Amino acid sequence: MFSTRRRFGINVSLAVAALTITSAAMAQQQPPPLSVKPLNGDVYWTQGGAGGNTGIIVGKDGVIVVDAKTTPASSKDVQAEIAKITPKPVTTAILTHSDGDHVNGLAAFPDGLTIIAQENCKKEMEASVNSKQPAPQNRLPTKTVDKKADLTINGVKFTLLHFAPAHTSGDLMVYLPAQKIVFTGDIITTNGPFTLIHLEKNGSSAGWIETVKGLIMLNADTYVPGHGDLQTKADLQARLDRVEAQREKIKKLVVEGKTLDQIKQELGEVDTPPAPGAPQFASFTTVVYEELTKKS
Ligand SMILES: [Zn+2]
Repeated sequence: MFSTRRRFGINVSLAVAALTITSAAMAQQQPPPLSVKPLNGDVYWTQGGAGGNTGIIVGKDGVIVVDAKTTPASSKDVQAEIAKITPKPVTTAILTHSDGDHVNGLAAFPDGLTIIAQENCKKEMEASVNSKQPAPQNRLPTKTVDKKADLTINGVKFTLLHFAPAHTSGDLMVYLPAQKIVFTGDIITTNGPFTLIHLEKNGSSAGWIETVKGLIMLNADTYVPGHGDLQTKADLQARLDRVEAQREKIKKLVVEGKTLDQIKQELGEVDTPPAPGAPQFASFTTVVYEELTKKS
């Protein structure tokens, strides 16, 4: 996800600036409260709380969740909301990708959960073991998908799709064909004009374009993004057009032999530091530049 960025006036004393920064950092740590919103059928999505959006699908004998939030506390909040909707147990979690804000909350789910993910997502969760905030190693995926799986879970039909490495190497799109809903994970996030690619997880901007083209081809009306508000097919098309055009612009400048700084300047991109405590991610321009200039 992107960090919240704020601009500060320059005519303030250092003390006031320090106070403002502290409150910005606190705002960063305190996301809006969790809210649950119904879609069609027995499908819900949640927004707010710590971490990405999640999905809740109530099946015949149990509940399937899509993604698991960042912390055990935030995942418990989701489970408490599920208990208000149905007394059925959560049997299955489907993961859209390996980022901590989507999988680390798995720690608060009971033993015996079926966890489904793309096979590279599992590898990335395993590889996170020595990182600052590792994925819970006793909640690794129990079933993996390569490119595509048609599954019926608790009577609900799912098509799970991996088009290409995009946001990460292991993105999995969760498509509910009967309800015409797709959970996209962070392939779509509405807090920036372009898209976030984790090169360190072997993501790819070309793979992102392929993935979004695949999402648009699906017979779906509602796309639940990893962060932000619900999207329509037209919203996805507009984002795809914007990203493709920007990628072409960057490519042209790379071919002309421009440096990254020159390209950023040409595109009017200003480097802004992240809010205190927030992670810094490479911009779309940096990602595309690195992809196109990488010596293989
Ligand atoms: Zn995320």
